[in-house]
Amino acid sequence: MVVTRFAPSPTGYLHIGGLRTALFSYLWARKNNGKFVLRIEDTDKKRNSEEATEAILKAFEWLGLEADGEITYQSKRDAIYAKYIQQLLDEGKAYKCYMSKEELDALREEQMANKERAKYDGRYRDFDGTPPEGIEPVIRIKAPLSGEIVVHDGVKGDIVFQAEDILDDFVIARADGSPTYNFVVAVDDALMGINEVIRGDDHLSNTPKQIVVYEALGFDIPKFYHVPMIHNQQGKKLSKRDGATDVMAYKEMGYLPEALLNFLVRLGWSHGDQEIFSMEEMKELFDPKDINKSASIYNTEKLDWLNAHYIKNTSNEKLTELLTEFGVVLSSHDKKEILLDALKERAKTLKELALMVEEIIQTPTSYDEKAVKKAFKGNAIEILEVFANRLEEADELHLPSDYHHVMEKVIEEMEIGFGKIGQPLRVALLGKMGGPGLDVVMAVLGRDETLSRIAKAVLTHTVDD
Ligand code: GLU
Repeated sequence: MVVTRFAPSPTGYLHIGGLRTALFSYLWARKNNGKFVLRIEDTDKKRNSEEATEAILKAFEWLGLEADGEITYQSKRDAIYAKYIQQLLDEGKAYKCYMSKEELDALREEQMANKERAKYDGRYRDFDGTPPEGIEPVIRIKAPLSGEIVVHDGVKGDIVFQAEDILDDFVIARADGSPTYNFVVAVDDALMGINEVIRGDDHLSNTPKQIVVYEALGFDIPKFYHVPMIHNQQGKKLSKRDGATDVMAYKEMGYLPEALLNFLVRLGWSHGDQEIFSMEEMKELFDPKDINKSASIYNTEKLDWLNAHYIKNTSNEKLTELLTEFGVVLSSHDKKEILLDALKERAKTLKELALMVEEIIQTPTSYDEKAVKKAFKGNAIEILEVFANRLEEADELHLPSDYHHVMEKVIEEMEIGFGKIGQPLRVALLGKMGGPGLDVVMAVLGRDETLSRIAKAVLTHTVDD
């Protein structure tokens, strides 16, 4: 059974890169009817916070990414790590190192002066003398100091590391007894039965060390997939300015979870030239062997395009519910179907949709000056007055087509082009140019509100002229 995991360190919010590897891990587990587990790597007490853990879990909930089983917290596993450290000590695979900070600094300086790589020189590796007084030892693992360590990577192929270039007997437990990152990751992945690790390639340099731990403890080494980073349009690592921000900020900006997940699955993974993937399709088609070998490029227009697609395909009922988070309550509006049918074709985000709705249902409090100048020329006022009269006379006014019909009648009667009525009417109803079809706007407003907005505009612009 395939068991994957997402193992965030709760030092801050969940960002786009982290979410992408979480999604890949989730999809791969689901595709294989396996398990996707969540492990919170909260051992760094100074940098971790409970709020950050909460934020990560909230983001998962928003996106509908469900983890299997209980969440594992590394902070609760000290006894487990201590047991394995003791085992390595007992088996002579790890040892206590009494080097003082001064000695370590001196060694570093000497190595730097000789233009050598800074590494521990193994002076306590075979030590069996009397330990120096007053020094709490760290525990170092006996790493292979020559030969090759090969990472069989599912994305990048076999990566061969020369032990002498990258390894030394690295610390697995600090002087205060706390275990180090590469040690706990390997122990946990093994004990949790993780057999496929999908993570960012910024972790690739840790992998040989983790392999040393697996081998020392006799654990099976999982399959690794190191996913290339996400870059901005300039080819640099994604920064906050480019959108590498809190995943929940995307919610606030009005992105739908479906759109964000679809966007992320295509960042570094492809299936032919398909762009739109439902969750079901992602689960069916995702395969880490198709992860691209090069960095992917973050593209906001693509995200907007996907979001527009998913908004268009969201039911009006669901949109009504989602819009409440943007301060728009449409639940009892009798024309919400007409309104949303028209506007959801045009909105890139829910925030934009909310704004469009407000611009229609709220009576304009001012008029855009440029638009007024353009629209209220010649006999615009007269045209609006005739149009208002015909609206009052009409029997049935419900659908956009009913209003359209009245507009056509006036166009014919007054022998004018559409623009002559369209422009002043638009400014009268919305205060500015732009927006959806006027017939839709009027059907949503209803006869009384339409007439009242026209009357107000006629009054305002007659006085102005
Ligand atoms: N906790 C690590 C991080 O947040 C990830 C560890 C891993 O994926 O192996 O960067």
